[in-house]
Amino acid sequence: MPSSAAPSVASAHRKLTAPPRLPKNGMRITPLGGLGEVGRNMTVFEFGGKLIIVDCGVLFPEEHQPGIDVILPDFTSIRDRLDDIEAIVLTHGHEDHIGGVPYLLKERADIPLIGSELTLAFITAKLKEHRITPKTIQVEAGEHRKMGAFDLEFVAVNHSIPDALAVAIRTKAGMVLHTGDFKMDQFPLDDRITDLRAFARLGEEGVDLFLTDSTNAEVPGFTMSERDLNPAIDQVFTTSPRRIIVSSFASHVHRIQQVLNAAHANGRKVAFVGRSMVRNMGIARDLGYLTIPKGLVVDFRKIQSMPDHKITLICTGSQGEPMAALARMANGDHQIRVGEGDTVLMASSLIPGNENAIYGIINKLTDLGANIVHKGNAKVHVSGHASAGELVYCYNIVRPSNVMPVHGESKHMHANAELARRTGVPEDRIVVAQDGTTVDLVDGRAKISGKVEAGLVYVDGQTIGTATEDTLAERRLLSGGGVVTVVALIDPKTNQPTEPLEFITKGFVHDDKTFEGASAQVDKALKRAKDDKIDDIGQLEEIIVEAVSGYLRRTYRREPAVMAVVVDA
Ligand SMILES: [Zn+2]
Repeated sequence: MPSSAAPSVASAHRKLTAPPRLPKNGMRITPLGGLGEVGRNMTVFEFGGKLIIVDCGVLFPEEHQPGIDVILPDFTSIRDRLDDIEAIVLTHGHEDHIGGVPYLLKERADIPLIGSELTLAFITAKLKEHRITPKTIQVEAGEHRKMGAFDLEFVAVNHSIPDALAVAIRTKAGMVLHTGDFKMDQFPLDDRITDLRAFARLGEEGVDLFLTDSTNAEVPGFTMSERDLNPAIDQVFTTSPRRIIVSSFASHVHRIQQVLNAAHANGRKVAFVGRSMVRNMGIARDLGYLTIPKGLVVDFRKIQSMPDHKITLICTGSQGEPMAALARMANGDHQIRVGEGDTVLMASSLIPGNENAIYGIINKLTDLGANIVHKGNAKVHVSGHASAGELVYCYNIVRPSNVMPVHGESKHMHANAELARRTGVPEDRIVVAQDGTTVDLVDGRAKISGKVEAGLVYVDGQTIGTATEDTLAERRLLSGGGVVTVVALIDPKTNQPTEPLEFITKGFVHDDKTFEGASAQVDKALKRAKDDKIDDIGQLEEIIVEAVSGYLRRTYRREPAVMAVVVDA
């Protein structure tokens, strides 16, 4: 479905420069994350010199980003304008929409956070762990809120977490409608459906720019209802002989409600396992988003003394996160020892990039004797995002003047653009942007105006933004071929080693012969260096590194990280 224009977007983006001054009557929309990737969603809206931010999430690292905890949006372009931020609107409580908030509030703590009850409860609990007490403004669907020159209106949308909102942003430049993440389940567990009547009303008024969730734009038809999962979940509870271990996102309140209902109906008890699961389910219960029958949920310590066929454990780790409960169980590194006859129900999606980790866990749990029920072999998961059919409905209902696909990899955004095109939105009014692209809405037309910095900001333990692409390249090199350090005692007069070279290795397999040839190459290279009158220690070290790397590559097809230390003899 992607159009022939697809390949040109990236190259066009590369050629962009800093945007010109924004016209007085214009609004600038700058996505800082979530375009071209699934995660770290963040969009900045500027009007009259002031800013509204919608969402501030994190992206989870992939295998090629070793040692990284999370990836943040790049705050560079707003860093000297923090005081201009009127508020951060949080559309819902998923990590890829709220996870970056603690890091932004570390730069300015009193930026108001606007969101629904559950969203604010989740972010407030998270911020508490960072010792930040936020300024919050709780809103409900249907409500208006004026923040400076921005008039915000909130619209109920249905998603894989309760209490999600779309937001309409009105300024003198026009009206922008941002769906956030959404789908159109007509029979959700809480009966709170996406408010298409409000979408239609806003469309009647005139939506100048429509930002829509692209995640499932390639999926034809309609996303199934959460309720359609009930039979498969029930099946697990009626047939499992021993313990049932359920892994899910710690925020998927409705999925967990379904599990609780099935456990209750089948005479089992439930314990929540893992800090974020216990915390979020406590919040959801206290606020009335989760209904827990009396006596159903028991403490983790207490449940262990119960007979296996009475036990349900609900834990995190459905994405293969190495530190989460499920991965530790699979590695035999958790109090819960998974064994013969246990059933593991993985009630969640497979986020691209996590597949290998998840399949690894499934294999390990199977080896331990467990029966694994997952979306590949049972109907235990539906997506939280609108499929193509739902998106088309939205375009036809809203009839936007301009469209800007958001949230998704490039192929998802192009598929979404194509849907808009098919509903009659003119080609030149569909803006496929990337992270950092600035889009200006002026006189009813949305156009790309330039770009700002929007790189990946890595969080590595306590350090933020210090690890770079080079750091990761080095880490990959270390993990790939190991390390070889060459220590050379060199006579400064002759530039020749006074003793045999010493090779120190980590993670590099070798025998004595491996380095004999390398030493000969180094001797040759040093002789050449002497002829060229090179005597700088740094240069000599480089020459040694090149000689050894080249030799190992040519002779053994191996590429360890090679370092050299030259010491004057
Ligand atoms: Zn979401």
